[in-house]
Amino acid sequence: MATTEQQSLLRSLPQVEELLHHAHVTPLEKDLPRVSIVETVRAVINDARQGILAGAVTCVDADALAAQVHLRGLALRRASLRRVVNASGVIIHTNLGRSVLAKPAVDAVNDVARGYSTLEYSTDAMARGSRHDHCEQLICTLTGAEAAIAVNNNAAAVMMVLAEFAQGHEAVVSRGEQVEIGGSFRIPDIMAQSHATMVEVGATNKTHPIDYERALSPATSMLLKVHTSNYRMIGFTESVSIKELRHIADAENARRDAAAQAAGRPGSADRVMVYEDQGSGAFIRLDCFGEYAEPTVAESVKQGVDLVSFSGDKLLGGPQAGIVVGRKEFIDRLKKNPLARAMRLDKMTLAALEATLRLYLDPERALREIPTLAMLSTPADQIRPRAEALAAAIQATLPQGCAEVTVVPEISRAGGGALPMCDIPTFVARVRFLQGTALDCNRHLISERDLPVIGRLSHDTLLFDARTLLNTDEYKEVALALAEYFSTLI
Ligand SMILES: *Cc1c(COP(=O)(O)O)cnc(C)c1O
Repeated sequence: MATTEQQSLLRSLPQVEELLHHAHVTPLEKDLPRVSIVETVRAVINDARQGILAGAVTCVDADALAAQVHLRGLALRRASLRRVVNASGVIIHTNLGRSVLAKPAVDAVNDVARGYSTLEYSTDAMARGSRHDHCEQLICTLTGAEAAIAVNNNAAAVMMVLAEFAQGHEAVVSRGEQVEIGGSFRIPDIMAQSHATMVEVGATNKTHPIDYERALSPATSMLLKVHTSNYRMIGFTESVSIKELRHIADAENARRDAAAQAAGRPGSADRVMVYEDQGSGAFIRLDCFGEYAEPTVAESVKQGVDLVSFSGDKLLGGPQAGIVVGRKEFIDRLKKNPLARAMRLDKMTLAALEATLRLYLDPERALREIPTLAMLSTPADQIRPRAEALAAAIQATLPQGCAEVTVVPEISRAGGGALPMCDIPTFVARVRFLQGTALDCNRHLISERDLPVIGRLSHDTLLFDARTLLNTDEYKEVALALAEYFSTLI
């Protein structure tokens, strides 16, 4: 039961009509349909009613309620999926959309989105074509593989490969490679989903060739290697290379052929394949990371994998995609798998992927123009003047005595489960608060703006890493956002 005080508060709540005509609310009519405004007004009044009944609201102020309607109305107007300024220093930030597309990729998307396209049309044959054809030759040229297919993402690619080649069979995988990647993608779960039997071998830190050899059975169809892209084991560790897995598979296939021939058949149809889930998908070895540089797809192909799969939006720096490359006979089977149809790429992704791959034909150009590669490979001494320009832009808009801005050395991260051991030296603009707090400012920068600015909280300061800022307009946006925050304090 409401107390008499609560009842009087409830009675003093404004009517819907009253708020609709309030000076804070009427400007919303410019951008929002009336139904949305009415709904927002009702929601604000209802929240106030609940607050009164819960004892959390002890006075009613129509102006304050109207201001709430105004704020919620502005938020409604915003697209949910929208651009952000990433000053976090995490380059392949999965929550922020992983790789930023290169300009030619953006243009290609724009082009096919605005009009009809050759998505499944061959202008040579003047007849129906295949959407698989747009990128396949490029991927083969760049990786040395015989054939390739691209689907929605690498998780989809792994699932498709296991379903096609390990369903009802055994796939052997090292215990040291039982990884979980980016929430809810776990090798054992994907195995179960694909009706493959997982045979785990070795210990967490060490697996030897003999472990794989002992695990072989007539039901074995795959030796699976999972690149532990998002963590590194250090200390006494050993894993089995692609080359060694190739030898083991070849020897087993030769034994099966010999046994079949002894039984009067020409050879065995049951093969053991070597498949690597490589994950990060580097096309260029980033020598700046020395021994920690991720192996490239071409290296895996050269070492003798039958198939290798990887993401399009990690180290490749393209759109979200999962690419499988390898032996033609196996890729041809994947192309016919119904999962390839269910998880196929749309025209915009294909356009972005093809344009990104074309940049790799000139590796120097790829390093310059693909933002992920450029951000990863720019040395700290070239980031420093950018951090200084950023700090200067912040200084220029900062009201006197609000904060101290300095340029300090810091660490950027590759993110996206790539290069986990690599500290990438960088320079950031560090803001120390004389008024307000870093925590409060961070909330303003992220939650209160149409264009959120994502920095990094560190010991009561906010850091803005120049490495992941795309241009000077973004420096100005960081400065503007900070100035806005300080203006809310006065
Ligand atoms: C990232 C990753 C995946 C998942 O790829 P998505 O493109 O995010 O679906 C799978 N395996 C490995 C080894 C990875 O690094």
